[in-house]
Amino acid sequence: DTCIVWFRRDLRLHDNPAWNAAVKSGCKIIPLFIHSPSEEGKWRAGAASNWWLHHALQDLSNQLACYGLTLTLRSSDTAIAALTALTQEIPVKAIYWNRCYEEQSIKRDTLIKETLSNDGISVRSFNGNLLFDPLEITNKSGSPYKVFTPFWKSCLTLVIPRPETITFQQAETSPHYCLKSDELDSFSLLPKIPWDSEMKEFWEPTRSGAKKLLKQAIAKSTHYQDLRDIPSDDGTSRLSPYLHFGQISPAEFHHEVLTRCTVKDTAQNGILRQLFWREFSAHLLYHFPHTHDQPLRDEYQNFPWNFDTDLLEKWQRGQTGYPIVDAGMRQLWKTGWMHNRVRMVASSFLVKHLLQPWQEGAHWFWVTLVDADLANNTQGWQWIGGCGADASPYFRVFNPILQSKKFDPTAAYIKKWIPELSEVPAKLIHAPWEMEPLELAAAGVKLGTDYPKPIIGHQEGRKQALDAYSKFKSSL
Ligand code: FAD
Repeated sequence: DTCIVWFRRDLRLHDNPAWNAAVKSGCKIIPLFIHSPSEEGKWRAGAASNWWLHHALQDLSNQLACYGLTLTLRSSDTAIAALTALTQEIPVKAIYWNRCYEEQSIKRDTLIKETLSNDGISVRSFNGNLLFDPLEITNKSGSPYKVFTPFWKSCLTLVIPRPETITFQQAETSPHYCLKSDELDSFSLLPKIPWDSEMKEFWEPTRSGAKKLLKQAIAKSTHYQDLRDIPSDDGTSRLSPYLHFGQISPAEFHHEVLTRCTVKDTAQNGILRQLFWREFSAHLLYHFPHTHDQPLRDEYQNFPWNFDTDLLEKWQRGQTGYPIVDAGMRQLWKTGWMHNRVRMVASSFLVKHLLQPWQEGAHWFWVTLVDADLANNTQGWQWIGGCGADASPYFRVFNPILQSKKFDPTAAYIKKWIPELSEVPAKLIHAPWEMEPLELAAAGVKLGTDYPKPIIGHQEGRKQALDAYSKFKSSL
């Protein structure tokens, strides 16, 4: 008998429940990936995600080749068309996959399940992308959580799944069929103009890259709380894209950190807690699917944003005149990733100081992040915009100058991403417009020429945000 393992966002052989089930079934296995971007609608993957996907698929294909298996690649308008075609080419007994929990994926998978089951094919799906199925966690009244801490505490009362990796022999799994497969290059996931040189330096988008970062994260886990907010330090794991594409499972991440770190409480309240923010975001998007582009708190539908493409573009290009914001936006552009602390400062600057809709920021992050994840991105932006679950209130405006002084005191982060400010003394760099002309000249900087003047004053931006908020509150 032959079965299909349909890889989606679980591009690994380790701790992969769908893969494990297929191996245990004793069937010959056809590993399959379907590229159907038109099916992703509004949330079609951006260029940075596609870059990552290309490499992750190449790596998975190499791993499978070690067992004599070929990853079959198919490009199609819809996944169902590709699957139906495949099941007509060869007799297939069963199909296995790990669930994705976005509304669009659920709709697609439900239809596929119905269609293939009607054709007599056994369809089995698993949870391999989260620690818990979003339906598993409810509060005492059976409703979804909207506040993080009780959600997290409730998760901790459950048995956290342990990773399971099974060994298998080539002869057991290798099918007799030689199926037509598209070339990976035909998916056109890599850039046509080579803008990815820094991405290549910054990332090793493979399973072995994930393992290296996991090892480092374990070694650093006792210092996580002290270092996690310092963007110049490698204090966080940088595992987010690997988790998104499933090159490492959350169960493996959790288990490895917990069993190998030296101080368990520190890990549990530090890096592992973040993994539950990931769970919480998925939980919220699953239960409130409209939040992918609408606020969770309904009243925010009518927030008086001041949409302005010029301001938005300056923010996107790292030309706001606020070094910490610009450094973050440039790190994002060059590497496809931004440190979490800077994500908070830069996103707050857009929605508060510049009064731009959070959806515009979320969209830019979506196309530029290698870890772009609908649940995490949506909840991150709504948290900042004050309109999400457990959100920081709108009137709490991050001060980009104080944040910069506190979290980048040596300016190592700013200077890395804004070389034109490299000669500016660290204590002055956070607000270059306050520098004396002589100080600027000594640092070789002409404001407005080498580096922009601030596009809005901090007090003015803060006041504008608070005025918009109080006007909005009184209109409710
Ligand atoms: P670590 O600190 O090492 O944390 C370990 C893992 O926990 C991460 O890999 C990630 O999977 C998860 N995690 C950490 N922080 C959060 C968080 N606040 N919310 C949810 N999960 C978290 N994260 C994404 O993965 N994709 C996104 O598209 C995304 N968009 C964001 C947008 C905004 C405006 C903000 C404020 C945050 C966003 N985040 C997003 C969350 C967070 O910034 C990243 O997960 C984190 O920076 C990844 O770095 P790391 O792997 O080193 O994290």
